[in-house]
Amino acid sequence: MPKNLELKKIISVVGARPNFIKIAPVHRAFEKYSDNIKHIICHTGQHFDDKMSKVFFDELQMPKPDYFLGLGGGSHAVQTARIMVEFEKILLDEKPDLVIVPGDVNSTLAASLVAAKLHIPVAHVESGLRSFDSKMPEEINRVIADEISDYLFVTEKSGLLNLDNEGVDKSKVYFTGNVMIDSLIHFMPFIDKSTVLNDLGLEKEKYILSTFHRPSNVDNEEELQDLVKAINELADLSKIVFPIHPRTKNNLEKFGLISSIKENVIILEPLGYIDFLNLTKNAKLVITDSGGIQEETTFLGVQCITVRDNTERPITSEIGTNHMIGTDLRKVVNAAKEIIGGKIKKGQIPELWDGKTADRIAEIIYKSIC
Ligand code: UDP
Repeated sequence: MPKNLELKKIISVVGARPNFIKIAPVHRAFEKYSDNIKHIICHTGQHFDDKMSKVFFDELQMPKPDYFLGLGGGSHAVQTARIMVEFEKILLDEKPDLVIVPGDVNSTLAASLVAAKLHIPVAHVESGLRSFDSKMPEEINRVIADEISDYLFVTEKSGLLNLDNEGVDKSKVYFTGNVMIDSLIHFMPFIDKSTVLNDLGLEKEKYILSTFHRPSNVDNEEELQDLVKAINELADLSKIVFPIHPRTKNNLEKFGLISSIKENVIILEPLGYIDFLNLTKNAKLVITDSGGIQEETTFLGVQCITVRDNTERPITSEIGTNHMIGTDLRKVVNAAKEIIGGKIKKGQIPELWDGKTADRIAEIIYKSIC
């Protein structure tokens, strides 16, 4: 790249587990432009414990964040407000040319709001996704981040349609693909070398992998009780691996439900990226309420049941291997039995989920600001 006398500054803001996976390839893609662009990482600390944060920086080969705000915990309002206050100081000091926000967490919302109000351009990576369920905190974060962003990088065609329907100026919208899949493709050699199956005494395609963390599934005692019942019923059919998100673990403990989970369920702490993706790749079936896991299973061609009434990632169900069954756990158990019995979806990989999304994003930004 021709050397620009004036080095441009970009700050990417990450806060939670999925953000780290999304920004790792973006950081790598900017290395090519290091004569012209300085890429700074600010970690808000929304997810802070080692298993939800540090392990991802290590495994995804990311540098230590330039800023760590340590702002985990608190209500949505408290967390968003505290991030805004601290991030504003960084922006006033650094005066970056662009702020990048990935995904849909509170850090995404807080950082984009602060930057937009200081008239610093904002790029939203994973733009346009809509569940149309405003009870999901993530949906509010997505809609607002998109509304105030100057570059909207879209992962799937539904995002283009959603932004068009919302009247977003087309010149700001770029269909670039999926950075989650960039990470998956880049780290596949490491994922394939993981010994996690052996370590846990599992065989390929002989277990179900399950994760839950959405407030709508795990915050209410009765719903969590039903979830445990469903997991126990499935444990009669197949071994189940259940890496538990801290939120879910707290609630299982609070409602005294942990001890009622059957022995055939392997309960684990949250896993690192490499082991988790190895378990995903080799599972017979994944049952989840995660956003990113719907995409990873579609890319890997692994059957996935999403225990939610909607998805902001419809392509995974339209052409991928995602089964949108809803939250009626009877139906979930029946669908799982059918899939184990062989009733599977043969999926396709969505357009531009090719491992080169971050390169496309970095090139667009470079051409635009340098
Ligand atoms: N993940 C992981 N270890 C786990 C569970 C998940 O590494 O124990 C990874 C996985 O790649 C997933 C990502 O973390 O796609 C994001 O997970 P999460 O479900 O927390 O977030 P969401 O995508 O629902 O926002």
